[in-house]
Amino acid sequence: MTEPLSPHRWAFRLTHILNQALGIDHFPIDVKAIARDISKSLYPNDPISAIMAESLPGFEGALVRAPSGQTGWGIVYNKDVRSTGRINFTLAHEFGHYLIHRIDGPPEFHCTKRDTYRWDSGYAQIEREANEFAANLLMPLDDFRRQLPDSAIPTVDHISSCAERYGVSFMAACLRWIAYTAIPAVFVVSRDGFILWARSSKAAMRRRAYFKTANQTIEVPSGALARRCLSEVERIGVELSNTVWFDRICTEMAFSADAYDYVFSILLVGDAEFDGECSDDGVR
Ligand SMILES: [Zn+2]
Repeated sequence: MTEPLSPHRWAFRLTHILNQALGIDHFPIDVKAIARDISKSLYPNDPISAIMAESLPGFEGALVRAPSGQTGWGIVYNKDVRSTGRINFTLAHEFGHYLIHRIDGPPEFHCTKRDTYRWDSGYAQIEREANEFAANLLMPLDDFRRQLPDSAIPTVDHISSCAERYGVSFMAACLRWIAYTAIPAVFVVSRDGFILWARSSKAAMRRRAYFKTANQTIEVPSGALARRCLSEVERIGVELSNTVWFDRICTEMAFSADAYDYVFSILLVGDAEFDGECSDDGVR
């Protein structure tokens, strides 16, 4: 019978196993090998027996039962996705469904791109839980904090280095950082001059620096870096006046992600200093 562990506890348990086997510096994680080995070890009669790339129009990945007459499960990921980071996160997300939801959840799981980046509490519970598991397995919080302490003000390159360390996309690393940082920061994803969605750190929320994109279209301000042709200097940060993003000055770093066709902006709000309050668990 499956133990009723939370996504965090599952990830913590596996991180402990990896620390014991490989040492604490075991990144990036080989998700395919871990999903096969762990499932075979814990549930030898119901393991993940196949992991494969297939055509999955409209989906990032899926967790499916073995064909009739066979036991176990298969993880499928979209063969048209080029980003290794996105594939790794999807594999970990599906592994999360296997560990947490295969007994009491739906018969099979088919997950869209949106399913793999919505970590907020209002989104479908099983997708959020699979993402919490994936984020905690791929980017354990204690290790991430060693790379970027709560009070650190990072550049785009710092976060890119973390993405490389953990074998995840820039977006996944940024979401992980924004969830625990103690500085007031907002991560904005835009395309063609419009904000698609945004996430604020807790310190930014306290300063009322956020964007509600669920039911309205928000244009990127005309003076924002996200509107410009981006060069190297904008990866470090440019200070903008209190008439651009918010009614206070902010520093914007911007990064164009060809693989997504998006522009990522990190806004450091006001003086963007550590305000002395640490977040508790790093995941909303
Ligand atoms: Zn899913």
